Amino acid sequence: MGRVTATDRRAVLLATAGLALTAGCASSSGAVAHPVRSPSAAAPALPALPAQLTHGPRDRPRVALTFHGAGDPATARTLLTEAEKYGARVTVLAVGTWLDAHPDLARRILDGGHDLGNHTLRHLDINAMSETDAAAEITGCAERLKRLTGSIGTWFRPSRTPVATPLVTRLAQEAGYPHVLSYDVDSLDFTSPGAPVVARKVLSEIREGSVVSLHFGYADTIAALPVVLEELDRRGLAAVTTTELFS
Ligand SMILES: [Zn+2]
Repeated sequence: MGRVTATDRRAVLLATAGLALTAGCASSSGAVAHPVRSPSAAAPALPALPAQLTHGPRDRPRVALTFHGAGDPATARTLLTEAEKYGARVTVLAVGTWLDAHPDLARRILDGGHDLGNHTLRHLDINAMSETDAAAEITGCAERLKRLTGSIGTWFRPSRTPVATPLVTRLAQEAGYPHVLSYDVDSLDFTSPGAPVVARKVLSEIREGSVVSLHFGYADTIAALPVVLEELDRRGLAAVTTTELFS
């Protein structure tokens, strides 16, 4: 095993919180308690963080808005531009087939200072798939990200589930993603309940360290985002990339 990374008080607290959240996942706790950096991993493991992350530090005024990257490319561009108007940075977990259809969006996302990650190749129920098929879903998207941007990205989010099984978590790690990115606030924007409902759901649950699940491709999200960003600004919560949230 490689060297054990240094921990600080915050990291220890985070790991403790993460362990509690992932207690039902029956995943190996050794890697959680004593994280190591894998020299072969494309993305470096973050010190003392669990394999599956639902939120960042609760003691700093920062949040991460994370988007399912699929659907109408025009709404994606509108949402990115809107976020940038407010000085916000977001995280896009892109579906591989969406990148095939709109390859220019990969660069657009990175050029805006946002994070770009992996949301599987076809957005199927990855937790229900065979090991071979699930691995292909992860590596298929990773290959596209690498081809388009030179990197597989840091973050992986499983498709059609907020939480990955231990098998999918292991497959993600083998593909080069040390951490699976879940979330603690679900906007439910994909159910099209109306923009006010989306904004209210997010703003009633978001707090320091929150990771919010949002989607490209829905009109409600476009209308809700400025409301959310204005209120975050009023509360002094900065919308940062997932990488920054956990750094
Ligand atoms: Zn999704």
